[in-house]
Amino acid sequence: MRVHNFNAGPAVLPEEVLLEVQKNLFDYKGSGLSVMEMSHRSAEYDQIISEARSRLLKIMGLGDDYVALYLHGGASTQFYMIPLNFCAENKVANYIDTGAWSTKAWKEAKKIGVKYHLAATSEDKEFTYIPKTWQLSENPAYLHITTNNTIRGTEWKIDPDVPADLPLIADMSSNFLSRPLDFAKYDLIYGGAQKNIGPAGAAFVVIKKSLLERQNSNLPTMMDYNTHISKDSMFNTPPAFAIYVIGEVLKWIEEKGGLEAREEYNRQKAAIVYDVLDNSDFYRGTVVPEDRSWMNVPFRLPAEDLEKKFIAEAKAKGMIGLKGHRSVGGCRASIYNSLPMKAVEDLAQFMNDFEKANK
Ligand code: PMP
Repeated sequence: MRVHNFNAGPAVLPEEVLLEVQKNLFDYKGSGLSVMEMSHRSAEYDQIISEARSRLLKIMGLGDDYVALYLHGGASTQFYMIPLNFCAENKVANYIDTGAWSTKAWKEAKKIGVKYHLAATSEDKEFTYIPKTWQLSENPAYLHITTNNTIRGTEWKIDPDVPADLPLIADMSSNFLSRPLDFAKYDLIYGGAQKNIGPAGAAFVVIKKSLLERQNSNLPTMMDYNTHISKDSMFNTPPAFAIYVIGEVLKWIEEKGGLEAREEYNRQKAAIVYDVLDNSDFYRGTVVPEDRSWMNVPFRLPAEDLEKKFIAEAKAKGMIGLKGHRSVGGCRASIYNSLPMKAVEDLAQFMNDFEKANK
């Protein structure tokens, strides 16, 4: 029996996709071998990766002024590739710090020695909100945001306005393709696949080609976006199986009605969980309501031992992954794209029952 999977990532995948992958695991569409065993230079694999790249742009509504890559090294490698490629010596890398991952992003810029500036931060209130104003530095190279804080459960509800000539860069790891965004506003979008669009092992990077005009020169080969673009995301052996599964998830997103349908479904799921929090004086949501994430819902119970009991009882009922991130404690339900409605309905029922029994 499958459990309701509230893990923060790697996370739940669509059942239809798992069954399709299983069907083709041993012999991929009559090729006589598994995708795991296939040469990445074969015609079969070329079709898999080409389609996974083109379908991604199509779902995002982007044209051929953008390019999609699938790279190794997770979102974390992008933290330093971005300043390395796009912050020139006389420029300043600008960041809005909404906690955890965005902090890691600017720290990586600092580490490689580029000038950086925090245009805004929500650290004053423990990253429980999204800053609404920001102050850019002189000579900004780009503005970097993290559209969803996986740990704190805050989410940007608008695509920020920036000056026309300033590149906007976003880590979308934990809310990617969960609803339509104005993707064309962004010059580079990246993230780890393992939350909303696939298994672990590949990062997606979507780049507006015009951004490449601002690239630094003499970069290490693997750290240079142009290396990967010029070789169609296959400069070296790509994370082949992960990309194949991502391709299947993208097909699933299309078949289910694309991003508009995801938005409606995710809005309903989030409402079910937040309704429980809002109608209770037992559970406490930790984020200001207007900035609440539709993907990661952190909450507290009146005491830590009750939180432990809650997590253990939920697990016994087939609901796993409800422990908050170790850096903040408490509970967190990650309710990504592929999590079925039934999982949040059962969670809400369990939360109400647990409250009655333990109040
Ligand atoms: N950014 C965000 C918003 C994340 O949630 C995570 C991982 N949880 C990362 C970056 C790091 O991703 P990776 O493990 O793929 O390097």
